[in-house]
Amino acid sequence: MYAKIIIEYPIKTLDKCFTYLVPPDMVNDIKVGQKVLVPFGKGIVFGIVLELTNDTPEFETKTVLRIDNKDIYLNEEQLELGKYLQEKTLCTLITAYQTMLPSALKIKDQRKSYDKYETFYTLNKSSVEVDKYIRENERRAKQVAILNMLLKGDVLKKEVNSSSSKTLEKLGLIKEVKVKKYRLNQANYHLREELKLTKEQEEAYQKVELNKFCTYLLQGVTGSGKTEVYMHLISDVIKNKQTAIVLVPEISLTTQTVKRFYDRFGADVAVFHSGLTPGEKYDEYLKIYQGKVKIVVGTRSSIFVPLKNLGIIIIDEEHSDTYRQDANPRYYAKDMALFRAKYHNCPLLLASATPCLESRARADKGVYKLLKLTKRANNMLLPEISLVDMAEELKHGNYLFSKVLKDKIAQRLENNEQTILFLNRRGFSTFITCASCGYTYKCPNCDITLTYHKTSNNLRCHYCGYTVKKDDVCPKCHENSLNYLGVGTQKVEQMLNELYKTARIIRMDQDTTTKKGSYQKIIDDFADNKYDILLGTQMISKGLDFKNVTLVGIINADTSLNLPDFRANEKTFSLLYQTAGRAGRDKKKGEVIIQTFNPDNKVLNLVKENDYDKFYLYEMNIRHKLKYPPYTYICLIVIKGASYDDVAKEAQNIKRYLMPKLDNKTIIYGPTPASVFRVNNIYHFQITIKYTFDDKLSMVLKEIENMYPTNKKIELDITFNPARF
Ligand code: ADP
Ligand code: ZN
Repeated sequence: MYAKIIIEYPIKTLDKCFTYLVPPDMVNDIKVGQKVLVPFGKGIVFGIVLELTNDTPEFETKTVLRIDNKDIYLNEEQLELGKYLQEKTLCTLITAYQTMLPSALKIKDQRKSYDKYETFYTLNKSSVEVDKYIRENERRAKQVAILNMLLKGDVLKKEVNSSSSKTLEKLGLIKEVKVKKYRLNQANYHLREELKLTKEQEEAYQKVELNKFCTYLLQGVTGSGKTEVYMHLISDVIKNKQTAIVLVPEISLTTQTVKRFYDRFGADVAVFHSGLTPGEKYDEYLKIYQGKVKIVVGTRSSIFVPLKNLGIIIIDEEHSDTYRQDANPRYYAKDMALFRAKYHNCPLLLASATPCLESRARADKGVYKLLKLTKRANNMLLPEISLVDMAEELKHGNYLFSKVLKDKIAQRLENNEQTILFLNRRGFSTFITCASCGYTYKCPNCDITLTYHKTSNNLRCHYCGYTVKKDDVCPKCHENSLNYLGVGTQKVEQMLNELYKTARIIRMDQDTTTKKGSYQKIIDDFADNKYDILLGTQMISKGLDFKNVTLVGIINADTSLNLPDFRANEKTFSLLYQTAGRAGRDKKKGEVIIQTFNPDNKVLNLVKENDYDKFYLYEMNIRHKLKYPPYTYICLIVIKGASYDDVAKEAQNIKRYLMPKLDNKTIIYGPTPASVFRVNNIYHFQITIKYTFDDKLSMVLKEIENMYPTNKKIELDITFNPARF
C-alpha cells in the first residue's frame, strides 16, 4: 500500500502530494486525514495523508515512519473543505489544513499531550459483595464510610485518599479509574424555558426550512430578538439529532450571547474562540470531535469545527469584518459556511440589523431569502436619535461634550439610569480633518478620503493615485485648524470625571480589556448597575443587552465617515445604528445623541431616521455609479518589500503582466502606495482589480504568485473581497 502525502512546508513549489510506502504493520491503522512522520530530503517532517492506493508507483519511494496521532484526523468533509479553502484564497493545501485545526493539533506543536485526567475510585465488586463486607466490618468506620460513598457513585480519589482507601484497593474492593478532564466546564448555567415567539419571530422561524440548503438573511432591528429565533431553530435541529454552528463576531459579544446558549442548551454547547488557551481549545475540539456537544458557539475559526450532521449554520452580525481573516490564508468565514451548508444540505442563516450591502443585494435578487423583524421583541420603540452640530458647540466653548449631551447625562445620573458613551476610534491611517468645520479631503474620482503622507506633505488617494498638496488653512472655512487629531478614551474619561464628580464611570477599550476575563467583568458589573456610565470604543457597539441603559451618546460620529475606504458610509451607518440600538431595550424609552461636524451628512441623517432600507437604497445608488461592490468584485494585490525601488518596480511588472491576460471589462487600478504605506520599514504598494466576471483571474493570479515563490525581496498578499483596501 502507498500513501500520498502533503508535507508540512507551506511553500508553493512543494504544494503537491508525495508518495510513500506504507509498511505492512501500519496498513491496518493508517487512514486518510491522519498526521504522519515521513523522511523528506535529509530530514524527517510531518505530513498529512490525502490518499491511500495499491497502485505501485513507477519510481522508488521512501517509507512512512510513524502515525503521529491515530485517533484524531481530518474527516472527509474537512479534507474537501480544505481544498475549497485553498481554491478560494490561493493558499497552499497544507496551510489550509493547518488553519482548520486548533493550535494543539497543528503540525508544529511539539508538546506531547494536551490531555488532562482525573483519578476516581470506583467499586470493583458487586454491590452484594460490598454490602457483605460492610456488614462483616462494621468496626472499620473509615472503610465503611468510603464504601458507602462509592455505593452512591464514583468519588475523586484525592477526596478519600487514606490508608483505609489503600487497604480497600488491596483487597480488590475498589479500584482507580482515570477520566479525561475537560478544562472548560460551564457549571453555573441556569436552564431556562423557551420564550414564546412574537408574531414576527414566529413567521421568520416558520420560513426557515430545515434539511434543505438555502441561505436566509434575517434582517431584524436591534432588540428584535434574533437570538430567540436562532434558539428555536437550533432546538428543532437537535430534536432531529443534528448539530449547529453559531458564529459570533468577537469575544466581547460572545460573553452575553454564549450565556444565553448555555442557559438554553446546557452541556450541549461548546465555545470556541481565540481567547481560549491552547489546552482549552484542544479540549473543546475533542468534545466536538467525539460528538459530545451539539452546538458550537464561536468566532471566525469555529466554522471549521468537525461537527458531524450539521443541521444549521448561523452567522450573527453577519456584516462584521471579523469574519474575514486578515492574514494568510485570507478567507471569509461566510464562504466556508456556504460550503458546509451545501455539504450538509442544511440552511445557512445570516443575521444582522444592518446586513452588509452584498448580502442585502443578494436577498433583493432572490439569491437569499429575506426574513424581516421590524419591531422590538418587547414592543418597545426604537430609540429617538438627534444630531448635534459640534462646530456650533465649539463656538460656545463646548469641547468634546455638547450642552445637550451633558444635560442628558446629568438627568440619567439623577434618575439612576445608565448611559453608554461611544468614542469612535480613529481609523487605521492618517487623514486630515478641520477642527473648526469638519472638512476632509476626498478624491474626486473615487469619493474616498485622501491619505496624508507626512514626508511629502501630500494627500493621496490610495485607490487611483490622485494627489494634492495639503493647504495651510482649511479650503472650506479658511481657519488655520487643519490638524485635528482624535482624542483617546482616557482623555474623555478624565473630562467625565471632572464634569460628574460622583458618577461611577467604567472604560472599555483595548487598555482595560487585555487581561483574560476583563471584558466579562466590565459587562457583568455594568449589567449589575455598579456603574453609571460605560465609555468605550468599537467594542461596545454591538450585541450588548443592558436593561437600564436609556441614553447613548456618540462623541465623534465623523471618524468612520472619513475612513479612506469605499465602505466608509456602510461602516458608519452600521456602527452608529448598532450603537444607538443599545438604548431603551427594556421598559424605558431610549435616547441617542450623535455629535458631528457634518450635521447635513446624508448617512448620519439616515441613522437618525433609523431606517436601514432607506440607507441601503441610497448607498446602492452610489455603489452603482462608482462601480463598487456589490456591482463588482474586488481583488487586492499587496506587494511588499524592504526596498522601495524593488517594490515599485515589481508592482509595475505585475500590472504589465496582468493587463493583457485579464478580461477587457476588468479594471486594474494602481499600483499605488497602500493606505498603510510603510510598516516596520516594509513598503506596501497595491494593485486593485475590479471585475464583474473573469474566469481567468484565479489562474493568472496563481501564475503571478509562482513568479515570486521564494523571492525574499518581494512578498505578495492576494485578497479576494477584502474588508478594506
Ligand atoms: P437582537 O439580537 O435582535 O438585538 P435579542 O435577541 O438580544 O435581540 O433580544 C432583545 C431582548 O428581547 C432580549 O432581552 C430578549 O430576552 C428579549 N426577547 C426576545 N424575544 C422575546 C420574546 N419572544 N418574548 C419576550 N422577550 C423576548
Ligand atoms: Zn481616487
